[in-house]
Amino acid sequence: MSHSRRGYGHSHHDMVEVDFAAFSLGRIVPFRDLDTVQGRLESFQLKWRISPSTSASFPKERLYPLSEKDLAEAGFYYCPDAEHVDRCVCFSCNRALYSWDKHDNPMYEHCRCNAECPFVKAIADDNLNESFSSLDDALQREMDVKGKDRKGGNEGPAVEAKDAGMLPEDALIDHLLICIHGVAVKENVQNEYLQTMRKNSEQMARKHLEERPMTMAVDVIDWHRIVPRVPKEILSQIMLGTVRALRDMACESTYDTLYYTSPLYKYKILDAVANLLNIKYKEYVAKYPKFSGKVSLFCHSLGSLIAFDLLANQVEQTEQEGEGGDFQGQGGEGLGEECGAGDLEESWRWPKLDFKVDNLFAVGSPIAMFLTVRGDILSESWPKGATEFSLPGGAKFFNIFHPTDPIAYRFEPLLDEEYGKFPPAALPARSLSMREQPFLDQAQETATRNTSHP
Ligand SMILES: [Zn+2]
Repeated sequence: MSHSRRGYGHSHHDMVEVDFAAFSLGRIVPFRDLDTVQGRLESFQLKWRISPSTSASFPKERLYPLSEKDLAEAGFYYCPDAEHVDRCVCFSCNRALYSWDKHDNPMYEHCRCNAECPFVKAIADDNLNESFSSLDDALQREMDVKGKDRKGGNEGPAVEAKDAGMLPEDALIDHLLICIHGVAVKENVQNEYLQTMRKNSEQMARKHLEERPMTMAVDVIDWHRIVPRVPKEILSQIMLGTVRALRDMACESTYDTLYYTSPLYKYKILDAVANLLNIKYKEYVAKYPKFSGKVSLFCHSLGSLIAFDLLANQVEQTEQEGEGGDFQGQGGEGLGEECGAGDLEESWRWPKLDFKVDNLFAVGSPIAMFLTVRGDILSESWPKGATEFSLPGGAKFFNIFHPTDPIAYRFEPLLDEEYGKFPPAALPARSLSMREQPFLDQAQETATRNTSHP
């Protein structure tokens, strides 16, 4: 299976200059409808005159199961030219993409060629507005409290800002915590999880960090939704029809891991995660000018492995700045003209993050297992005997797990096998009842005993 050659670049024309009437042999697509899926879908039904003597229509059969609907939902309308019969253009950023492959995920390709597209941003981050408004509320509350504490006048900003519907002048986000999910997390579960994380982190900060008040924004990226996959139609050809529910369940929990170990898909997942992280960071910087810029990643299972790999392959900051921080690698940004970008696999480079990560919290993480199987622990660059482990670029690494989590592995024995002789450090639990505590102790004891035995 070889990957498609993919070309992209700016569309040569502004939206209003696209002459649908002249190009189309069929109906005229009203411009205003291109911002709807239905409007864009209609453009795929038309026959287009691409030269005085030839016409083109969307190559449905060749691209099956990639459908017009997939493309339209990813922001594209159909607009072929003489060279590219499958050329599609984004209604929002006017980027043109062509040479589609039937296995492509249009949303992913869109994000890869222009992560700055307003449409991509909106899709990549459905909950961003909600996130901002809940964060604004929290900041506002904090400003109100500070305002009350101040003696004398001169403490207007909170009230003024509230009236103006803007953030207080000295509103500050100390920290942005971005959560990266693991295998196949359902959207509603993820939203629930995010709400819980926000509530808990705010409570914890209030309770335990009184002497050092901080405002932490908690957000999440959903990479699962935009990463390309083998179409269901193709998988169903090899899937047995028996015990289907069991098979579907097994697939849900293992597929993402399979994809991540696949040389065909791994780089797509890494690109997607890096792009989404960069988008998220930029949104916060733009929205909160006083944001201190400290970012931590809080990652579950496979998500932690992806983040670990990404961070392990960041160049030093100075070098990155020298490269102009072009995290997109093959760079939609750099291409002013439409052109073929060459084979992705050959030209792929590790995507760069536009910001420094301060901490990587790996939760329930199989990182150590993957590193062991890959043979990465043999590398001489591992700092033997270190009491703290940082990734290139300076992110401190924390491996956190519940003793009964079957997916989690210890990390520190990789640094020095001596560490394997000690039980893992216990973290204080937030709200364990008396009934839960003995269970946890026992589980931890069992887990430690089992892992220390040969
Ligand atoms: Zn776009």
